[in-house]
Amino acid sequence: MTSVYVVGSGIVGVSCALNLQEKGFDVTLLDRSSDVKETSFGNAGVIARSSAFLMNNKNLIPNLRKYIFNQSLAVRLDYSYLIKNANWASRFLYQSLSHHSEKNIRSLDALISHAVPEHKKWLEKSGQLGRLKELGWLKLFRTEQGVQGTVYEQSIYRELGINIQILTQDDIASLEPALKPIYKSGLHIKDTASVDHPGEVTQHYIDLFLSLGGKQVIDNVSKITRSNGVLVLHGNNKEYQADRLVLAAGPWSNDLLKGFAKPLPMCFERGYHQHFDVPKGTTLERPFLDADKSFVVAHTTQGYRVTCGSELKDKDAPNSPDQLQAVVPFAKQALNMGNVIGSSIWKGNRPTLPDSLPAIGPCPDQENVWLAFGHQHVGFSTGPITGRLIAEMVVGEPTLIDATPFLPNRF
Ligand SMILES: Cc1cc2nc3c(=O)[nH]c(=O)nc-3n(C[C@H](O)[C@H](O)[C@H](O)COP(=O)(O)OP(=O)(O)OC[C@H]3O[C@@H](n4cnc5c(N)ncnc54)[C@H](O)[C@@H]3O)c2cc1C
Repeated sequence: MTSVYVVGSGIVGVSCALNLQEKGFDVTLLDRSSDVKETSFGNAGVIARSSAFLMNNKNLIPNLRKYIFNQSLAVRLDYSYLIKNANWASRFLYQSLSHHSEKNIRSLDALISHAVPEHKKWLEKSGQLGRLKELGWLKLFRTEQGVQGTVYEQSIYRELGINIQILTQDDIASLEPALKPIYKSGLHIKDTASVDHPGEVTQHYIDLFLSLGGKQVIDNVSKITRSNGVLVLHGNNKEYQADRLVLAAGPWSNDLLKGFAKPLPMCFERGYHQHFDVPKGTTLERPFLDADKSFVVAHTTQGYRVTCGSELKDKDAPNSPDQLQAVVPFAKQALNMGNVIGSSIWKGNRPTLPDSLPAIGPCPDQENVWLAFGHQHVGFSTGPITGRLIAEMVVGEPTLIDATPFLPNRF
């Protein structure tokens, strides 16, 4: 049987492993950690087609001033990081021009459209379907005029057939009685599901893979080489030989490509979360985004999880959670939240490529190596469909959707 190693057991890696296992490969999932604790642990768990409306859409350049001067809670820029990555930044901006971004939005939507069905398949197989809620999510504004600023966004949703409803203050109160009456307008984005804990879901997928005979190795890979045509993964104390390799190490994927194949242009949109006790009584039914203050609150098994926007900074730089700390008082204005839960500040690194599309496909420089990383804000949603596409490519079957926009050789 052909052996495949998948490096990285976040949502993308485990989804690749499950799909490859289903195709009959002898699959080993390799991660340096036995716990799901990186990006797939701490996200908001929202599976939303509306996330195809990329950050680098045609509204980015007109709004650039507030981002450049760190005047928006949505974005924090580290200037030295930005200067070091000026090439990435200029390509990211270039991709925001409408003829590029609208194409990218359509491509991402084609991927995200399969996010809920693919998750449902694996949730069902792992006995966890009850964790999925299909109640949509809310994008809320503190003024009546707020929602009027989403005309372009709404037009994109309508073009893609994404089911939305414009909300008044009364609509918001009847959908989410747990919210305080501070939101005056909003959007209910209905084609959206959410889970009660993305990290726990990822762990259940790993458990399912192992229960079906998959192998797991806990080791830190320092480099990848090739010896007499065989792929070699260099672990701390051991070398692993593989016929095929899928690199799904999320934000660390480029570190492993160095010296082996050309890294892809990637920057990190760091993000933080913190948990709060859920008071007794009426609780939040679905996640919401405060579009004015740039935070999301989701009801997880660990409590209310408040997540913040993007901090453009190196993944290895020390934590600087001031963006999160700035939004927490606004979250408390919106929702009755109890005490902070322990030392629950967590940081993750959204890995973002200039066109905001993930890399899914063969490594351009190395045979029998596939890349599956760069899923920015949508990796929890698109992990399972990514895994399916990768497995179809490894087998050489036609892919469920046209994978051309995601091929790594576009860079
Ligand atoms: C604050 C925040 C909120 C978000 N909200 C959402 C959301 O609501 N919905 C959504 O769809 N997405 C969301 N995202 C994005 C999503 O979390 C990511 O896109 C996704 O988790 C990426 O998954 P991954 O498997 O590629 O990476 P990861 O989960 O980071 O997994 C990579 C794995 O590789 C392993 N690894 C790395 N290097 C090595 C090595 N050298 N050797 C061995 N193992 C290694 C790591 O240990 C890790 O387990 C959010 C992200 C953040 C930060």
